[in-house]
Amino acid sequence: MILLDRVTKVYGKSNNALDRVSLHVEAKEFVIIVGKSGAGKSTLLKLLTREERPTSGKIVVGGLDYDKLKDKDIPLLRRKIGVVFQDFKLLPNRNVFENVAFALEIVGYGNREIQHTVPRVLDIVGLKGKEKRMPLELSGGERQRVAIARAIVRQPKILIADEPTGNLDPKHAWDVIKVLEKINRFGTTVLLTTHNQDIVNKLKRRVITIEDGRIASDRANAKYSNQTNQAKLQ
Ligand code: ADP
Repeated sequence: MILLDRVTKVYGKSNNALDRVSLHVEAKEFVIIVGKSGAGKSTLLKLLTREERPTSGKIVVGGLDYDKLKDKDIPLLRRKIGVVFQDFKLLPNRNVFENVAFALEIVGYGNREIQHTVPRVLDIVGLKGKEKRMPLELSGGERQRVAIARAIVRQPKILIADEPTGNLDPKHAWDVIKVLEKINRFGTTVLLTTHNQDIVNKLKRRVITIEDGRIASDRANAKYSNQTNQAKLQ
């Protein structure tokens, strides 16, 4: 599903944000990416969403070879990858339903399809009955679940969640993580970055640690318990 072959990203003249990173993520995997601030996590995600381009190396996502991507392929890529951010990025003047519907409107879905699809997705993220609430009337956890609903409404193959629990208290953080697990059970590949050690330990998923632009470890069901790793996660 996701393949990186010796991917290097240099910002400016010499800031090696990623240094020959090779990585393979299978369809339907749930992968957690950890590493201290500045390690290169966001750069990795931005290369996958095509916000940034690699300086060298190969990226193939869902059969799309990024070297061969043309402008006309970008909508296809956007369709394959849903993204959720730490700060939700909701439209403040639109209610819950409208925030999710907007993701369909901008790509030309008709009203009938929107009325059919949005309630189903709001049900998945546990927001049934809150369609008319405005973002400011929601808790942080609910806002993030609106953002997740918006990210998955077009049924992407991959969901990237970049520090989605960073602004949430533990209870709401877990509500969000449970939704991510549910979406993964439905067959979506999930890439999650987090600084939350508790989440990493309890999820018992594959954990990739990035350190100074390189993959320092890549372990199935990894658990973070020792002091060194704890420090790195800060
Ligand atoms: P993380 O997400 O793990 O905090 P980043 O990928 O944001 O790490 O950053 C990796 C390195 O690349 C850091 O040294 C950061 O300062 C640098 N960097 C990130 N984005 C840019 C940019 N747009 N221009 C220049 N340097 C950048």
